[in-house]
Amino acid sequence: MTSIPNSLHSPFPILSDDVRKTRIAACSVGCGDCVGTGNCTSKHDTQHVLHAIAGKSADLTGTVSEEAVGALTGNDGSILMPEEQVLPTLNRDGKRKWINPSIEQGPKWNYRRWVAYALIAFFVVLPHLRINGKPYVLIDIATRQFTFLGHTFYPTDTPLLACLTLATFFSVMLVTSLAGRVWCGWGCPQTVYMEFLFRPIDRLFQGTVGKGGKSKRELSGAMQFARVLVYLVCCMFLAHVFLSYFVGTDRLAHWIVTPPTEHPAAFLIMAGTTLAMMFHFLYFREQLCLIACPYGRFQSVMLDRKSLIVAYDPGRGEPRKKGKRQPQSREPLSLDLLIKPAVGDCVDCGRCTAVCPTGIDIRNGLQLECIHCAQCVDACNAVMGKVGLPTGLIRYTSQDGLEGKKASLFRARTMIYSAAVTILVGLFFFILSFKFAFDARILRQQGSPFTVRQDRMVQNNFRLRLVNRSQGEQQYNLSLADNEMQVNWSGGEPIVLKPGDTRLVPIDILFPTQKTSVQGSVKANLVVADSAGAKREIPIQLLGPR
Ligand code: SF4
Ligand code: SF4
Repeated sequence: MTSIPNSLHSPFPILSDDVRKTRIAACSVGCGDCVGTGNCTSKHDTQHVLHAIAGKSADLTGTVSEEAVGALTGNDGSILMPEEQVLPTLNRDGKRKWINPSIEQGPKWNYRRWVAYALIAFFVVLPHLRINGKPYVLIDIATRQFTFLGHTFYPTDTPLLACLTLATFFSVMLVTSLAGRVWCGWGCPQTVYMEFLFRPIDRLFQGTVGKGGKSKRELSGAMQFARVLVYLVCCMFLAHVFLSYFVGTDRLAHWIVTPPTEHPAAFLIMAGTTLAMMFHFLYFREQLCLIACPYGRFQSVMLDRKSLIVAYDPGRGEPRKKGKRQPQSREPLSLDLLIKPAVGDCVDCGRCTAVCPTGIDIRNGLQLECIHCAQCVDACNAVMGKVGLPTGLIRYTSQDGLEGKKASLFRARTMIYSAAVTILVGLFFFILSFKFAFDARILRQQGSPFTVRQDRMVQNNFRLRLVNRSQGEQQYNLSLADNEMQVNWSGGEPIVLKPGDTRLVPIDILFPTQKTSVQGSVKANLVVADSAGAKREIPIQLLGPR
């Protein structure tokens, strides 16, 4: 005997047609055919098959025979059926269940649409924007430079990059603990492009029944090819935009008008990105949120009972019952039910599940797969409007809010995250304010710490690491504050560096032996000056004989 999976069990003893209806209502389509006929109309869906069997089962004990399942599923017993549903996109026989969500064009969907269009425009325009001649964002991996808001950072800017990374990390934690998965539902590129670019393309080609959902027509080969072609054009465009964040728009424009043979590596990166996007948006889709995205996995530790979530109110909705509510059906039937009506507000229409882009039923509680897109909020509010009940059965709230407790923004974790973000951002700008037009660092040469020359002068050897952080070519000169000391480097000619260039310059510092005769060392200041007038003094410890 095979147990009917838990999700299909009724909370009541299975005794009547009503119970069978309850089970069928838990089905992802809930067509109800099996109530009347005992046959499931969708025999590819094992869940339906189990419902159909449950509908026909004579003893209605919640178990069905392996033979009965096998007869309807074609499973000869070689496949072990799972006890529970593992993923909303996985049928019980292990096959992919394609999600084809309807759309509910409610107020939240409208807001999300405008946010999505604004984000797409921002993503496309941002690499073209300049501040003081530099891009707002450029991640130049080849030269290991990162430009952000017109400031260029180098791998040597470890403290700055550490502050920026940690501030981003704590900001994500703060936003998540306050507003839940608002990023997933409103700002994530996967959601934005899937729901507002690629699914609309699908609807354009395949047509839809009602507001989205199942397609109206099967595509012919030519139309399927045309659809893939449109995907290809979109993905190529997005791949070019993506590439411009790494190479800059000027170089990208040059590459576009020159043959790929002149820049094969860049062409391969663009082609690879296009193919990866094609694979993702044509095939992988919502699987990214369900099984691959690390951010989704961390939700359980980042959310607390006061975080904003999209939630179904079981206190108001249960016990759910199909059909329009009559005023009397909501009235209590006995003293026990004075507190809770006999019938909840959920009319069990399944609309919240039909619109869900990850295929889950929000009525099962807070789930890892929920990206908080609020489509089920719009859908349920529309249903509530039709049946004359108040909206908000599914709504933005918190777990505490569902229990009638007050929400509060000021909690230990939000205070700690806010403090961490404030400190890190402050530290970032503090360090930035000490950044000069150039970086200069002294490194001691390996080998003997000093040599004493025949003319009784002591020689210390160093390497000077110079980085031009300015936007123009610069010439650098070196000198020492102490007139008795002398610095020598590559013929004494000014060191010329282009913007962003880095150079290691060997330098020698000479000084009389008397300088170190007492302590064996002496302090000096190396002065580095560029042709634009910027100057830095670098303290050096010079070594010599006592
Ligand atoms: S849309 Fe609302 S009424 Fe319909 S099944 Fe979902 S929660 Fe119940
Ligand atoms: S359950 Fe609702 S909010 Fe969550 S992903 Fe599905 S439709 Fe979006």
